[in-house]
Amino acid sequence: MALRTAEQYRKGLIDGRSVYLLGERVKNVTEDPYLKVGVETAAFDFIMAHDPKTRDLAVIRDAQSGESISRYFEIPDYPEAVSARHELIRAACETADGALPFIKDVGSDIINGVAAVARITGNETYQRRIEDYRAHCARNDLSLSGAVTDVKGDRSKGPSEQAKPDYYLRVVDESESEIVVSGAKAHITASAYTDEILVIPTRNMTEADADYAVAFAIPVDTPGITQICRPSFRFEDTVHFPTPRPRRGHVEALVIFDNVRVPKERVFLLREWQAAQGLAYAFSAFHRYTAVSYKIPILEYMTGLAMLAAEANGVQKTSNIRERFVNMIRYTETTKALAKAAALDPEDFGGSGFYVANTLSSNMAKLHFASGFHDFVRDIQDIAGGLVVTQPTYKDWQNDELRPYLEQYMGGAAGFDAEQRLKLMSMLHHVVASDFAGWHEVCTIHAEGSFASQKMMLMAEAPTELYRSKARDIIGLEIA
Ligand SMILES: Cc1cc2nc3c(=O)[nH]c(=O)nc-3n(C[C@H](O)[C@H](O)[C@H](O)COP(=O)(O)OP(=O)(O)OC[C@H]3O[C@@H](n4cnc5c(N)ncnc54)[C@H](O)[C@@H]3O)c2cc1C
Repeated sequence: MALRTAEQYRKGLIDGRSVYLLGERVKNVTEDPYLKVGVETAAFDFIMAHDPKTRDLAVIRDAQSGESISRYFEIPDYPEAVSARHELIRAACETADGALPFIKDVGSDIINGVAAVARITGNETYQRRIEDYRAHCARNDLSLSGAVTDVKGDRSKGPSEQAKPDYYLRVVDESESEIVVSGAKAHITASAYTDEILVIPTRNMTEADADYAVAFAIPVDTPGITQICRPSFRFEDTVHFPTPRPRRGHVEALVIFDNVRVPKERVFLLREWQAAQGLAYAFSAFHRYTAVSYKIPILEYMTGLAMLAAEANGVQKTSNIRERFVNMIRYTETTKALAKAAALDPEDFGGSGFYVANTLSSNMAKLHFASGFHDFVRDIQDIAGGLVVTQPTYKDWQNDELRPYLEQYMGGAAGFDAEQRLKLMSMLHHVVASDFAGWHEVCTIHAEGSFASQKMMLMAEAPTELYRSKARDIIGLEIA
């Protein structure tokens, strides 16, 4: 088939999948008012593949079949693949009105991680299976979500030590042709509206955890998979002023696997507990860079919103506000510079022949982004003023009796009449003071791995031996 249209993608989601939201089973995820926001954000992936303006970024020619396929399914076996993908993700975010379509990147990061580990460990069966699966995804232009995070119960205990055996997803049965798995994965982005879910372990394992060392891919409508989604926001909205480019975003789900049967052809790790940590690490190496790439357009437009807010309030030239601008620019441009450095210095991951953005720089970029975001939001809130939370709503603006009052009192500096200023404040409310804004702050900390995981990777990748040997040379110390 190759290169589906957005309409074909939407149609493919009407398959009887078991998705719940606000306690009700969703009949059609493409029509549900909350999930629709995610579906339409995701649909940009397919729109880009057909739009002459973005096609060259989004589409490549498959070396084996000669067919046009999504760039996400490219085998990254040359260094420039890294920056090409970075440009695709940045452009996707721009095209999808500031949000990432998010339905092929995390899944293909898992495919790359699995493929790299299969090569490093020399497991030819898994190498063949994952490349067959990659080709299957490319041929059918599938959308994918990635389920890594288990529900984890008591965080101080490993999988096999938990009070309930299902706190980590595990193999509960096996035959010659298939395995049966049970457990749940939490916070899974977009899984309610992807074709497939890829599952890998979230952590290191011991021999006692062997049943938990499992990785596989499975269609979302497979019997036994139930998703419980938390609503985010809807397109229909009476509070915020409408904008020419709608607000975009995604919905996460708790994905429950209740005795789900997985054909062995789609299994990429089965009880090799020694490889679990390496697999989680390899996925993170690929995925952390995706995470950094899509933040950049978001930081750019949020910085711009703060600048417009200062202009609307007539304070853009005052020293206290310019100090805030300096903070925001430093934060945004440092994130960009680190991301660029990571793309320009790709590395062959573990000698696998698969190229990944420089892991030290991309972890630094993610850590820098995650550690500074709340301060960045604080600066925007400070610049914009209290109207960010007390503003009259779009419904008030539409009321003929109230609008004259709003026109009289809500104007700002030259160029910002009441409508312009309220429109701006309405968007600022969405990005720094709404439920969504709170979600975004938490997302910044936890999504794509919490601070601790970035710090762990930073310690693993930093040239600490180089630092120590330089210090030894200077002092003349003989110790190793
Ligand atoms: C918006 C959003 C989208 C997400 N999308 C996805 C997705 O698509 N796929 C996916 O797989 N995951 C996804 N995640 C999950 C994300 O990767 C996790 O939230 C993250 O790894 C943290 O795990 P947790 O939420 O279980 O928090 P916890 O692991 O409970 O962490 C809470 C705190 O406890 C600390 N902690 C935890 N365990 C230990 C320990 N043993 N020792 C010391 N300290 C510890 C952590 O460092 C952290 O400070 C998403 C999360 C969010 C918020």
